[in-house]
Amino acid sequence: MVFSKKEFAIILSKLKVFENPNPKLEQYPTDSEVASDLLWNAALNGDVEGKIIADLGAGTGILGIGALLLGAKKVYFLELDPDAIRLAEENYKKIEEEYEIGEAEFIKGDIKEFDKTSDTIIQNPPFGVQDEHADKVFLEKAFQKSKIVYSLHKTETIDFLKAISKDRGFVISHRYNYDFLLKKTMKFHTRKNERIQVSAIRFSKK
Ligand code: SAH
Repeated sequence: MVFSKKEFAIILSKLKVFENPNPKLEQYPTDSEVASDLLWNAALNGDVEGKIIADLGAGTGILGIGALLLGAKKVYFLELDPDAIRLAEENYKKIEEEYEIGEAEFIKGDIKEFDKTSDTIIQNPPFGVQDEHADKVFLEKAFQKSKIVYSLHKTETIDFLKAISKDRGFVISHRYNYDFLLKKTMKFHTRKNERIQVSAIRFSKK
């Protein structure tokens, strides 16, 4: 596929997003600018083309679908919420009609039970705002199942990320910083739209 980074971002911006985001599951979609930049960098690092990839907590599938558009061989989409995974499948089918892309496998289930190995994991897990340990569970699973992990986190948690990755035999090789827009999609949000600092971290196994 030949398109520019800008065109890639536009394709991703047209995917469907959550209809009724569930605050307990921290369903904040990655916006298309962040997703396209992160995936474009992952592709430049040689972690996407021809690779088997897992998108954990896939939501409506933007990260995994983007990876397929950049030449991934196969993507596992793992998601707990049946409505989200249905949208991810719809998004995939729509893109597949228009572009020649690799295979997708949709798995409805909890992160704890995910058992597929892959070359690369690309995830935007819950940040652990609602459930303090949610991001930790995703990271630990990712470190068990892949040697290369891209994961989005609040920048302020960097010390925790350094410590947990070191413990599991991973190093932080790259860090991409973004201003993340949390849209006022959930009832408990008081301010209109909130910006938070997030970092996409590339962890690689030592
Ligand atoms: N990857 C998507 C969605 C990010 S939001 C994107 O980048 O846009 C985090 C996602 O993780 C939500 O879709 C939520 O439903 C899912 N999730 C939360 N807890 C989960 C769990 N225990 N197992 C699997 N998925 C979970």
